[in-house]
Amino acid sequence: MLSVRMGSEIMTLRGIPASAGIARGTAVLFTRPDLPVVDGPAAGVDQEIGRLRVAAQAAVSELVALKEKTRASLGDEYAHIFRSQQTVAEDDAILGEVEEVIREAGVCAEAALRTVFDNYRALFDELGDDDYNKGRGADIDDVHKRIMRNLLGVPEVSLADLEPDSIVVAEELYPSDTVLMDARRVAGLITERGGPTSHVAILAKNLGIPAAVRVPGAVREIADRDEVVLDASDIDEARIHINPDAETQRALDVRKTELERHRNRVEQFRGQDAVTPDGLRIVMSANVGSTAELEPALQAGAGSIGLYRSEFLFLNAAKLPDEDAQYQAYRRAAEAFREGFVVIRTLDVGGDKQIPSIPLGKEDNPFLGNRALRLSLSRPNLFRTQLRAILRASTLGNVKLMFPMVGGVPELDEALSMVERAKAELDMEGLSYDPDLEIGIMIEIPSAVWVADTLARRVSFFSVGTNDLTQYLMAADRLNGEIEQYYRTFDPSVFRAIREVSAAAERHGRWVGICGELGGNPLAIPALVGLGVTELSMSPSLLPEAIWLIRNTKKSEAAQLAERVLSLDSHTEIKALLEQYYASKE
Ligand code: PEP
Ligand code: MG
Repeated sequence: MLSVRMGSEIMTLRGIPASAGIARGTAVLFTRPDLPVVDGPAAGVDQEIGRLRVAAQAAVSELVALKEKTRASLGDEYAHIFRSQQTVAEDDAILGEVEEVIREAGVCAEAALRTVFDNYRALFDELGDDDYNKGRGADIDDVHKRIMRNLLGVPEVSLADLEPDSIVVAEELYPSDTVLMDARRVAGLITERGGPTSHVAILAKNLGIPAAVRVPGAVREIADRDEVVLDASDIDEARIHINPDAETQRALDVRKTELERHRNRVEQFRGQDAVTPDGLRIVMSANVGSTAELEPALQAGAGSIGLYRSEFLFLNAAKLPDEDAQYQAYRRAAEAFREGFVVIRTLDVGGDKQIPSIPLGKEDNPFLGNRALRLSLSRPNLFRTQLRAILRASTLGNVKLMFPMVGGVPELDEALSMVERAKAELDMEGLSYDPDLEIGIMIEIPSAVWVADTLARRVSFFSVGTNDLTQYLMAADRLNGEIEQYYRTFDPSVFRAIREVSAAAERHGRWVGICGELGGNPLAIPALVGLGVTELSMSPSLLPEAIWLIRNTKKSEAAQLAERVLSLDSHTEIKALLEQYYASKE
C-alpha cells in the first residue's frame, strides 16, 4: 500500500477497507503512554510472583467490568471479547509460564511477563495478512499491556471523551479502546495494524463506522486535529485524504450521498429470498469465524452458514479443545441455524494459519505443505476428535461436514474412511449422529477442478474457496503485496475453473457454492449465478446487496453474462465487463 506525496505534504494514504463507507471528520490521534521497559533481577522470587498475581487479578477485575459494560451497551455477542481476554488473564498455564521465567531466569515480573507474551504475539504475527485470526493478536497484546500497566501502577487511558465527528487514528486499536469510546461521536477509524477481520473491524462493521486498517504511516503523517476524509467505499482499497482541498471534499460528499442512497435501497432486501425474476433460488449463507458471529449472521438475514471456520476454537484456546468443548460450539451453531444448514469445515491450519497448541515443523513452502486436511490426516487423534464432535452435533440441526484443501481421491477416501470409523465408534458407544449427514469438499486446489467428476461421485456438494484457488491457479501468494498484480481475482482461469466444477457437479446432481471472497463480491455475483453456482456464502454485512443483485438479474441474463466472461482474454476485460453490468443495475 502506497502513500502519495505532493510537495512536502502527504495528501493521500492508502490501506485496506475494513468497514465500508465514507467519513469526514477531525483526526484524533490515539497514542498510549509508553509503558517503561522494566528489566532487571527479581527482588525475590516469591515477591515477584506475588506482584504478578496481584496485577493479573487487577487485570481480571477490569476485564469483568468491561465485559459487563459491553454487555449492557452492545449486547452479549460483543461481551465475549472480554470473556476470552479474561480467560487469558486468568489462565494458569500462561501465568505459570511467566512464573517459571521468574524462577529460572531470576528476572522481575515485568521482564518475565514480556518474554512470555512476546512469544505468543510472535505466533500471531507469523499469520498471513489475509488470515482472519491475525486480528486476535491484538487481544494478546491487550491482556499483556493490561497486566503490565497494573504491575507498573500506571492509570488507564481511554477514548471516552471525544468531540463529535472524530476520526480516530491509532497504530492499533484494542477491543477495550473501542468499547470505552463513545461510538456516536466517532465518524471513522484508521489503524496502521490490524486486519479486516480483527475484532475492531467487526465492531466497526456492526456499528456502521467506516474503517481502514493497515494504513502505513497513519500515525506519523496525520496530525491531531487534521481534517480527514476516509473513503472506504471501494472493495479493494481505502483512501485517506488529509486536509483535502474543497474540490476533493465536494467530490467525496457527492459519492457519500450516492453511497447512502444505494445502501438504503439494498438494506430493504435484508432477509428476503434470493430468487431471480425468472425463479432461480440461490441459497444465501454466511461465513462465520466464531460463535459470537452466529447472532449477527442471523440478524443480517443469513439463512445458513456456508462456512464455519472451526480454526477459531483452536486458536483462542491455550490448549486443544476436547471433544465436548467442540461439540458444544458446533451444537450452538446447529441450533441457531436449525431452519437452514451449517457447513462445518474441519480444521484448516498450517500454511499461514499457525496455532500455538498445534506446533508445526518449519517448512520451506508452508502453503504447499502440511496444511488443512493433510494436517488432520497426519494427526489422526486430532481429526478423530473433531469428527466425533461434528457427528454428535449433527443430530441437533442440519449439519454438513466439509474438508478443506482436497487435491484428489487418495486424501478424500482416507478422510471419508475416518468418518466411517468415527461413526462406528459412536455406534458402539450408543451415541447418536445424523446417518444422512452430507459431506462436501472445498475446491481450492487446481487438481480438484480436473477430477471434479470423480470427486462428485464421493461427496454431496462442492464449495469453491476462491481465495486459495486463485492463489494456486496463478502461483501467486495471496498475502504477498509485492506480486499483488499476479493474484488476479477476475482472471479467466478462475471463472473457467468454476465452470468446470459446476458442470461436473451438475452431471452428478450435486450443488456448488462459493465461500471464498469472490462469492460476496457484488461485481462477480451475477456471473457466478450464470456459471451454475446455487449457494453463496459471505460476510453477513454483504448479504443485502447480494440479494438485491440476484433479485434483479434474470437467470438467462446471468447465463449470458457468464458466457461473455468465459469468452474474454484477461482479468482487465472481465473486470470491465462486470463493472459495466453492475453499473447497469444501479
Ligand atoms: C478460500 O480459500 O477461499 C477459503 C474460503 O478458505 P480460507 O480463506 O479460510 O483459506
Ligand atoms: Mg482456503
